[in-house]
Amino acid sequence: MKFNTKAIHGGQHHDPSTGAVMPPVFQTSTFAQTSPGKPIGDYVYSRSANPTRTALENALASLENGVKGLAFSSGLAATDCLLRSFKAGDEIIAMDDLYGGTYRMFTKIYKDSGIKFHYVDMNDMEKFQSLINENTKLVWLETPTNPLMKLADIEAIALITIPKKILLAVDNTFATPYLQNPLDLGADVVMHSATKYLAGHSDVIAGALIIKDKVLAEQLYFQQFATGATLGPMDSFLVLRGIKTLHLRMQRHCENGLKVVEFLRNHPKIKTVYFPGLSGHPFHTIAKKQMRGFGGMVSFNFVSGEKQDSIEFLEKLKIFTLAESLGGVESLANHPALMTHASIPEDIRREIGITDDLVRLSVGIEDADDLIEDLKQALA
Ligand SMILES: *Cc1c(COP(=O)(O)O)cnc(C)c1O
Repeated sequence: MKFNTKAIHGGQHHDPSTGAVMPPVFQTSTFAQTSPGKPIGDYVYSRSANPTRTALENALASLENGVKGLAFSSGLAATDCLLRSFKAGDEIIAMDDLYGGTYRMFTKIYKDSGIKFHYVDMNDMEKFQSLINENTKLVWLETPTNPLMKLADIEAIALITIPKKILLAVDNTFATPYLQNPLDLGADVVMHSATKYLAGHSDVIAGALIIKDKVLAEQLYFQQFATGATLGPMDSFLVLRGIKTLHLRMQRHCENGLKVVEFLRNHPKIKTVYFPGLSGHPFHTIAKKQMRGFGGMVSFNFVSGEKQDSIEFLEKLKIFTLAESLGGVESLANHPALMTHASIPEDIRREIGITDDLVRLSVGIEDADDLIEDLKQALA
């Protein structure tokens, strides 16, 4: 089945009792049994499984070519579930340009766990390999990264992790399975903030893990069941409905993203545009190798380098909404240093290039001409 068909039908079937085309929102906590330990159907209690969530989880597994999908109450809950697989003495190597909340979890919540975290530029393969030892249990990638659109070569990294039996997990939130399938490139686990492109309508907080291997899938399922950060039936329904148009939305996000980039890179007030689709982008070659398009996330900074310029620009926007988050149908703008990445210490932000004049856009699916007019007037 090709992707556009999978987005609508992957892992799905009509409701067996009524023929309902969309799975009903099974808003129930528990399920009747005929005799102790003999439930009427496959379900017992909604923390362990709920049919609406199962429908979403099957769709997720299908889109990412995994054996199992797990739906969580947020993207961070999904990451936390995976992190619980590790113990004191284990070492984790992560990219140095991570989603702020992921970085906060690693550095604040897991600080006293005895797990040792290393942060590295994943394009420095020598440095990356020098950090690997017998305690290395997980490599955590985010590609493209947020907000600087750095990429990591998933396949090249998998060639190193697979023979050493190190788990490779990829936060695929920015690319979505429409543009990139990490499991096909050698990763073991894909993580999503389904809050973003998968749900796509800025109306739900949700997360996902999709797993390639059956044994690991069962382990993570047990972990989720035993700790409880599952996605509710209504939210599962909303994410599933969003997924049905993922391919259409992503196609337009990609088209609009390219048009906005074309405008920005020719604007005299703008210094650097960060977008993997630009041939001059340092990661363009990797992007072409592992992605089927470049998405709608664009960051840029100002020739002046002035924080004030970025603030005035963001205050003047009319169609773009100044807000955290991304991946919805509407265009959003964000100031990473003051908003999404404020939890990263200033010196580390500087080091990785999140300057105080950096702006991140999540280009939506409105008319591109209107979006460009809006950017033009805000830059004037
Ligand atoms: C939003 C986001 C997360 C966290 O997801 P939540 O659903 O907000 O918990 C993780 N990674 C990336 C890349 C994100 O954009």
